[in-house]
Amino acid sequence: MDYSEYNVKEMEQFLKMTGDLYDVVRLVDPLECREITIKDGQLSIANGCYNVWESSQRCKNCSSYKACVSGARREKEEYFENQVFHILSNPVKLAQDDGTVLSCVIEFITVHKATEDEINHVNDRRSEAFEPATLIDPLTGIYNWDGFHQKTREFLDLHPDEACCIMAGDIAQFNMVNSLFGRERANDILIEISRQLQSFAPDDSIVARLQADQFATCMLSSQFDNSRLLDVIESIDLLLDDSAFRMNFTVGVFEVKDRRLPISVMFDRAVMALVRNRTEHASQISHFDETMLEELRYQQKITSGFERNLANDEYCIFIQAQVDKDGKILGGEALARWVRPNGEIVPPIRFIPVLEKAGLIARLDRRVWELAAKKLKEWENTPLSHLYLSVNISALDFYYIDVVDAITSLVEKYQIDRSKLKLEITETAIMSDAEKQILRVHELRNAGFIVEIDDFGTGYSSLSMLKSIEADVLKIDMSFLRETDRDERSRKVLQSIVKMAAQLGMETITEGVETKEQVDMLVSMGCRMFQGFYFARPVPVSEFEEMAKG
Ligand code: C2E
Ligand code: MG
Ligand code: MG
Repeated sequence: MDYSEYNVKEMEQFLKMTGDLYDVVRLVDPLECREITIKDGQLSIANGCYNVWESSQRCKNCSSYKACVSGARREKEEYFENQVFHILSNPVKLAQDDGTVLSCVIEFITVHKATEDEINHVNDRRSEAFEPATLIDPLTGIYNWDGFHQKTREFLDLHPDEACCIMAGDIAQFNMVNSLFGRERANDILIEISRQLQSFAPDDSIVARLQADQFATCMLSSQFDNSRLLDVIESIDLLLDDSAFRMNFTVGVFEVKDRRLPISVMFDRAVMALVRNRTEHASQISHFDETMLEELRYQQKITSGFERNLANDEYCIFIQAQVDKDGKILGGEALARWVRPNGEIVPPIRFIPVLEKAGLIARLDRRVWELAAKKLKEWENTPLSHLYLSVNISALDFYYIDVVDAITSLVEKYQIDRSKLKLEITETAIMSDAEKQILRVHELRNAGFIVEIDDFGTGYSSLSMLKSIEADVLKIDMSFLRETDRDERSRKVLQSIVKMAAQLGMETITEGVETKEQVDMLVSMGCRMFQGFYFARPVPVSEFEEMAKG
């Protein structure tokens, strides 16, 4: 079985079907060591699925835990009361009707009586193997991810009748702190944040750093003091009050109502409030509400149906022309669209972030690249043979696939000219992990591809990045252009970017061009390529082909 998603009914059926094939088949939530049972479509959850191994907490080597976290199946043998348990741990996702998706594991267990040899062998290994998971984050001294899960569950059990809440907090653009001020300073800041949060949370509550700059607390709602938290946020923001960079600590809060929810889901909901807070620039403390669940259901619709919709060719490309100053089409940008069977055209802003979060973006991007490569092949020996297409590469693609290999294989498969398939990587993607990304860009260029820096001008240190990265094309973001409409200084900055790019041997293309005035200004600055609604909107491929034929 793959790391696939089931709804509760399907899971119930699956467990029934496979139940007879093994001695035990059980569903567990290994992040919290809970066993999940389903009867007539109803979930019930019991704590302590490790009890059977005679321990009071999860072993560091728990194979189901590893399966769940890595998304890959694991196998293990355990010895208990003269019996050998062979456990196959299969990670799965369990989708509930309210949009909650539980990461869990189906354990297929076979049991046999241990032979003398096995007893000795397993005993040997067991004494080495059992090691309780560490609960403390060594950097800050507060709980880590494991500690947070375990201690929060204990806290909730200890206060069964009192309202409790979970808070998630993190720093917007924390990676910038690392790259601008260095790891040591960044670590000091994390330690200071943990201190501040400890001073905010009452003594018996839970304070944790889950990873990087991700913090969490769990406490009684009656002890959650909003104004005190605002003070804490302010003092955290002041930790780095540099003229070029201001830190922003954002939090989201989830009031725990259904205590059966996994702690990880509770935390995710606090994060949803945090994200909403950040994107809508709402108040500095935002609370989870039911409308966010609507969003979750929508996201789930996108991810759970993704493979099927991809196979149905519902994901396709639109092309937006890129032109010279006279409006002559030079090529275009291939932009993903989800065209649903009812004809609705869903724009990428609705599904790309969702697919990125679900780890599916590379699946989509590969499809888009392939559609573009196929088109370029089709255009060969036709009046459209001079056109190029540029495609977007998500920063996350590099984590999931070998991008250089994937794109190289495509151009080989379709036997197309490499320079015709241009690659766009966003400036923020590059700066998020500058050292690695610079190497990747280098690799792609060495392989003969034209690399463009997309959305240039939206990052914090756009100009300084030009020093370190060699790319072929600078794609100036439309927000830059908007500012030049009313601001003389922005015009001067834009002018110098175009000049500097030329000196560095890079082409520039400006996107988001909407008016004739903008075109005239850009032409006078020396910009020769444009993309924007003034010339053309993204359109279905056949429409683009008609346009390009003239
Ligand atoms: P982008 O790569 O910067 O693409 C340009 C976006 O600007 C397009 O939005 C385009 O419709 C819009 N645009 C172009 N000219 C104008 C204009 O004059 N005025 C205004 N207001 N907007 C203009 P779209 O197609 O909605 O794409 C949004 C973003 O989604 C893209 O930004 C890109 O980051 C991402 N995206 C699109 N397709 C893919 C894909 O296949 N893979 C990945 N990873 N990301 C994609
Ligand atoms: Mg782009
Ligand atoms: Mg762009």
